[in-house]
Amino acid sequence: MKRSEFIKISGLAGLSLAILPQFSFNFSGEFTRNQLIGKGNPDIVGDSYTSKMHKTAKEAFLKMKAEAAKENINIEVVSAYRSFQRQKEIFERKYKKFTSEALSPEKAIAKIIEYSTIPGTSRHHWGTDLDIIDANAPRPSNVLMPENFHGSGPYCKLKMWLNENAATFDFYEVYTDNGNRKGFKYEPWHFSYAPVSIPMLKEYKEKIDVKQMLSEEKILGNAHFSEAFISKYVKENILDINPKLL
Ligand SMILES: [Zn+2]
Repeated sequence: MKRSEFIKISGLAGLSLAILPQFSFNFSGEFTRNQLIGKGNPDIVGDSYTSKMHKTAKEAFLKMKAEAAKENINIEVVSAYRSFQRQKEIFERKYKKFTSEALSPEKAIAKIIEYSTIPGTSRHHWGTDLDIIDANAPRPSNVLMPENFHGSGPYCKLKMWLNENAATFDFYEVYTDNGNRKGFKYEPWHFSYAPVSIPMLKEYKEKIDVKQMLSEEKILGNAHFSEAFISKYVKENILDINPKLL
C-alpha cells in the first residue's frame, strides 16, 4: 500500500471512531430512551391533547374514522399522546388526593394504578395509543366507564364496530376483558396501533430499566415504589396486555 493511501484509510477510520458515540443509538434500535418515556418524539404530529399522535398511527386512525363514519359512528379521541410531564401531573394530583384522604402511600399508589400509569410507563407516551368514544352517541357524565360500552350503554354500537373492524386498521384493544389478565382493569376505549407500538414495547423492554428510571425521575411518592412493587408492575401492568400487541 502506498503511504498516501494508508494515511487516507487510517484517517477515515479515526474519523468514524470519533463520530460513533453520538450516533450509537442508531445501531441498537429506532427509539431513544426519551421517546420511550414520553419526553418528545419527532414523529408526533398534531397540536392538542386529542390530536397529537405518531404520524403513522394518525394516518391509520383517520382511515378507520372515515370507515366508521359510513355507519354513522363518529369516533372521537378523548386522549392521545400524553407527555411524561402530563402523566406526572395526573399521577401526583391523584397521589396527593388519596394520601390526603388518609390512604397510606402504598394504598394510594395501588389505587392510582387501577386505571392510571406511573409517569414514564404509559403507552400514551408513544403516540400510538388512543382512548376513543362515539361523539354521535348521547354523552354520559363520565365517558370512560366500561358499562358505557356494554349492555344498553351509549358506546355499544362503537364497541361492536371496533370488534369487527379495528384490526383491519391495525388497532387493537390493549387492556382486554380476559378474566385471567392482571394489571390495568378492562378498558374497552383504549386502542393501540400495533405496527408502531409493538416495536416500541420491544425496545422499551430492552432499554428501560423501570426501577432505575423511576429512581432518577422526581415523582411524588417514588420512595414508596419497592423493588417487589416495580417488578410486579412491569410484569402485570406493562406486559400483561392483549397478546396481539406483544
Ligand atoms: Zn388510554
